[in-house]
Amino acid sequence: MGFKSDIEIAQECEMLPITKIAEKAGIDDKYLEQYGKYKAKIDYNLLKESDKKDGKLILVTAINPTPAGEGKTTTTVGLADAMQKLGKSVMVALREPSLGPVFGVKGGAAGGGYAQVVPMEDINLHFTGDFHAIGAANNLLAAMIDNHIFQGNALNIDPRKITWRRCVDMNDRQLRNVVDGLGGRTNGMPREDGYDITVASEIMAVLCLASDIKDLKERLSKIIIGYTYGKVAEQKPVTAGDLHAEGAMTALLKDALKPNLVQTLEHVPAIVHGGPFANIAHGCNSVTATKMALKLADYAITEAGFGADLGAEKFLDIKCRMADLHPSAVVIVATVRALKYNGGVAKADLNNENLEALEKGIPNLLKHVSNIKNVYKLPCVVAINAFPTDTKAELDFVEAKCKELGVNVALSEVWAKGGEGGIKLAEEVLRLVEEPNDFSYAYELEGSIEDKLNQIVQKVYGGKRVVLTANAQKQAKQLEALGFGNCPICVAKTQYSLTDDQTKLGAPTDFEVTVRNLKISAGAGFIVALTGEIMTMPGLPKVPAAERIDVDETGKITGLF
Ligand code: ADP
Ligand code: MG
Repeated sequence: MGFKSDIEIAQECEMLPITKIAEKAGIDDKYLEQYGKYKAKIDYNLLKESDKKDGKLILVTAINPTPAGEGKTTTTVGLADAMQKLGKSVMVALREPSLGPVFGVKGGAAGGGYAQVVPMEDINLHFTGDFHAIGAANNLLAAMIDNHIFQGNALNIDPRKITWRRCVDMNDRQLRNVVDGLGGRTNGMPREDGYDITVASEIMAVLCLASDIKDLKERLSKIIIGYTYGKVAEQKPVTAGDLHAEGAMTALLKDALKPNLVQTLEHVPAIVHGGPFANIAHGCNSVTATKMALKLADYAITEAGFGADLGAEKFLDIKCRMADLHPSAVVIVATVRALKYNGGVAKADLNNENLEALEKGIPNLLKHVSNIKNVYKLPCVVAINAFPTDTKAELDFVEAKCKELGVNVALSEVWAKGGEGGIKLAEEVLRLVEEPNDFSYAYELEGSIEDKLNQIVQKVYGGKRVVLTANAQKQAKQLEALGFGNCPICVAKTQYSLTDDQTKLGAPTDFEVTVRNLKISAGAGFIVALTGEIMTMPGLPKVPAAERIDVDETGKITGLF
């Protein structure tokens, strides 16, 4: 049976002009800045000037995934289309895709099948230039650091302790480690340097957490770029503010801070804005985008990266706390494939029916459901995202098993059928958001870094305790001494397991999580706890997706998945 590709489906969509979408969302013309016919930016002053009551916030997250992704974006978009079919005023807020995965393995981030946002080619390629602006701001700061050293180094920056890296929005392993400033006295100070992919830049996290221009500038000025010469106890952090860089960086970012408006295949207004890494950063779209969707619609549906142990945890404990957001319901996406994967089936065999493995994978789902209900105290529903490879026996089995275990569940067929395939899910979500809830965080900000980590490991992952290596213990002391002890924690660990070991599937207990490195992202305002080496500049695979992408004389793009 042949299926149309995502791009074929997207190109068949007769998009409405973006002015019509804005009208539908109730956006006054004066706030709309058009980028061609089908894209626009929304002026953030709308947030301050509108007196409409905020809508209800719905988070879409997932169980621990297979390496192919479980369909969170697809479900987010399809659920919004379904709510529209039920006559509701609804908007989605999503992340912007990075060029890295577009040309690499994973593909786009604009949904899939009949649940996508369009124009998908633009959204996946450059879009409105936000990532270029972020790269420019990042690299302006880098240029100012090296120039400062070249011009006499009044701040006494130790070139060996510069933590700020250059960036580019591409998977380019060749740039991970470089030596620059070569060529003699007039060409700079030679030093070891490196590049990250733009979405891993702290500027991305900062832009996504900033509430307005003023907050953006303040956060940028707090970014730590490195440390001064001296023994560990004497080293002082040097900030972007010390280099007087925050004004120019903010100037470069002033349009990038404005959320982008597009539409779903069924013409639901969609905001696609910001896209921080889900490991060393918090992994969800911008605060301005979420607030804008809440301001404009009665229901705002948003997505958090990776599985719920990382994505939902950071969304709820970092983003909601910083932005004072209060979700009304959570959708946990599960697939037959991911359940089988968690039940021990190898990646290559996921397409074969296997009820036994399905059953063995269910504890993973139960743990995430229990976290949302008992730790965060939010109502939730499991959306089973149906794949064409799932058998009826498998889908029936999961549904029956969930019901038997008292788990609220709805089959979602939005990938195959668009909004029509998500009606049952939408009805359940609409019921849940009316339930009163007692939203709580997994940990309070007061207390030591180790304390906070222990609470995440014990409550959210289901483990015994966190173990800090000697190096991480030293860093924790240093960060607490510098006054960062009460920041929220952003854990960087594998997305495939509730533990820090990607081969431990299902719902393990009694395990330890080892933190090897603690770093402060002072602009973003969180401490990053690294459980292993995290790649901040990915590479391309042997056959990159870029080899299949093309464009004809009419400008029509092909091969984008
Ligand atoms: P996530 O947001 O969880 O990473 P996406 O929604 O981006 O996942 O989906 C990942 C990939 O899987 C996309 O290429 C999408 O087209 C595909 N996909 C999602 N749901 C389905 C489904 N029900 N059937 C087939 N393919 C799907
Ligand atoms: Mg996604």
